[in-house]
Amino acid sequence: MKPAIFEHERMSSIDDVVQALANADGEVRVLGGGQSIGPMMNLRLAQPDKVLDLSRVEGLDGISEAGDRLSIGARVTHARIEDGEVPGTTGAYMQFVASGISYRSVRNRGTIGGSVAHADPAADWPTALLALGGEVKVVGSGGEKSIPLDGFQVGPFTTGLGWDEVLIGFDLPALGPNTKWGYYKVNRKPGEFADAIGAVIIGNEARAVCGATESAPFRVFDIEEKLSGGATELSVADAREILSGHDAGFDDYELQIHAVALSRAIGRAFA
Ligand SMILES: Cc1cc2nc3c(=O)[nH]c(=O)nc-3n(C[C@H](O)[C@H](O)[C@H](O)COP(=O)(O)OP(=O)(O)OC[C@H]3O[C@@H](n4cnc5c(N)ncnc54)[C@H](O)[C@@H]3O)c2cc1C
Repeated sequence: MKPAIFEHERMSSIDDVVQALANADGEVRVLGGGQSIGPMMNLRLAQPDKVLDLSRVEGLDGISEAGDRLSIGARVTHARIEDGEVPGTTGAYMQFVASGISYRSVRNRGTIGGSVAHADPAADWPTALLALGGEVKVVGSGGEKSIPLDGFQVGPFTTGLGWDEVLIGFDLPALGPNTKWGYYKVNRKPGEFADAIGAVIIGNEARAVCGATESAPFRVFDIEEKLSGGATELSVADAREILSGHDAGFDDYELQIHAVALSRAIGRAFA
């Protein structure tokens, strides 16, 4: 199928994007790498009247480190992260995550900002970035603001982004060299969307995230407590027991694969 007729506007500044969203007549969507909205438009699941193309907007593709923080622009592609452009331990973790997203041609165009704004429950960045912690940088007609990644995604394809707002980047922690991390994605074929994801980071604090659920990824505080207390492994049975106390609505099979994902992520962190 081909998309319904739509208008395409190549934007030149973020101010113009914000203004165009604020003055929108009909459904107007931002276009990042087009790797999610493109297929949705082809299937006519999305039928925007107009798309605002971010590809020539300046200031959205930077990667920089200042002290213990990293700034990553919304338009940074999965491929640039896979190629090691993000420095340090955070970069190594993100490089691993990026390399597992689909295949190279999707990674060449797909952007980290588009992925987090899209908030597909099965996607990698929403889970991986929640494990890192940090903030999403957003600009809209009310000005610029930062929203914590904790709670940014509130459900499937639903975030704290307002209809008149654009995601411009991320402010993330630059993890120390001794920080341990593990990421494990359960999928049928390498590069496919996940059926379950476990992501753990153990540094100044421990964070453990269960992702690729039916809804938003969520932190598993009982596991974080164990990791903070010095645990270096977690059996699948123990992970199951902990996850069964969550109201994620997992059936038996889902409980098992999410428990496996978290147990193996911890195994990788301490391997
Ligand atoms: C075959 C295939 C396999 C894939 N496999 C995986 C996978 O295994 N794991 C995974 O994580 N992803 C996967 N993806 C999705 C891919 O990672 C996309 O790149 C990503 O989800 C969306 O990024 P994008 O830049 O292409 O966004 P787009 O498709 O351009 O936009 C997606 C949505 O986000 C909005 N948006 C985009 N940028 C912004 C912004 N800056 N501010 C506000 N809203 C914005 C758009 O309006 C749209 O609603 C796959 C895609 C394909 C086609």
